[in-house]
Amino acid sequence: MMRIPLLLGITLPLVLAGDYALLFLLPLGPLHWKEIMPACGGDNQSPINIVRRKSQWDKDLDEILFEGYDQAPPGRWRLLNDGHTVVLNLGGAPAAEQINITKGGLHGTYQALQFHFHWGDLNHNGSEHTLDGIQYPMELHIVHINSKYKTISEAKGHPNGLAVLAFLFKVSDADNTNYNTIVAALKNISQADNYVDLASTFPLSNLLPDMPLLSKYYRYKGSLTTPNCDEVVTWTVFEELIPLSKSQLDAFKKMLYFRKMATTSRMTNNFRPIQPLHSRKVYASRDATISSCSRLAPSFVIPLFLYVLVGLFSGPS
Ligand SMILES: [Zn+2]
Repeated sequence: MMRIPLLLGITLPLVLAGDYALLFLLPLGPLHWKEIMPACGGDNQSPINIVRRKSQWDKDLDEILFEGYDQAPPGRWRLLNDGHTVVLNLGGAPAAEQINITKGGLHGTYQALQFHFHWGDLNHNGSEHTLDGIQYPMELHIVHINSKYKTISEAKGHPNGLAVLAFLFKVSDADNTNYNTIVAALKNISQADNYVDLASTFPLSNLLPDMPLLSKYYRYKGSLTTPNCDEVVTWTVFEELIPLSKSQLDAFKKMLYFRKMATTSRMTNNFRPIQPLHSRKVYASRDATISSCSRLAPSFVIPLFLYVLVGLFSGPS
């Protein structure tokens, strides 16, 4: 019974002060977030395990229109160790408002704000979402704000406030050279609040799988994956994996440190474990790979079943 007040007393001031290491270090890790932030115990939390064969095919989930993703915007980008991840703020560059997404079942325009990563440690994978129970080495989140809202705090007040694109990684033999700029910069931002201004911007699409493959995705309504866990995120989790070599992945696991506490700790396992789906549905895009049964069920299998049933009970005339 003493645990909750004790946690409140110790953890809340530190989290408010931005001591993000506490978010992921036991015994005050993600399992206890709901004790200090009740919203983290809500019914629409993220991440989740996506069971492909249980997802519901939705023909309205067509190709997402990526605007500005294929251009290097003017200005410079700043890569920051914010104490719990590596984040690149896109809002700082001029013309960033032109990097946005529409269509793909999204209502309105969502403007890209920042991207960041979640990963494991040298022995464990660290994606947040899992696909059919499989956790992947790393996950990229590109956070977008509904253009109806002016600030992120305003957006957090609305269920349709944010849209996050989630990409899972796989280990490849060769380096993914499109990640060289980011990986090379990690050694310069090892401590919390360290930042580095990248020499040049680049098209965001460089970081992603080939555009035609991005029509395969899963969609559900969820939350931010760090406190306050606001349930304001329309999630899109893509099927196609991003390749990254082991040495590139290891750079994230070895070069970076959480915000300093009494002792310095490596920035590893900065992912939240999967959360219950409850009554939510996961929808599969038009092109997503789900079992043919799920896809055929509404249009073909049920009428066929009824036809057979009618045949069985109608006697000879
Ligand atoms: Zn994230």
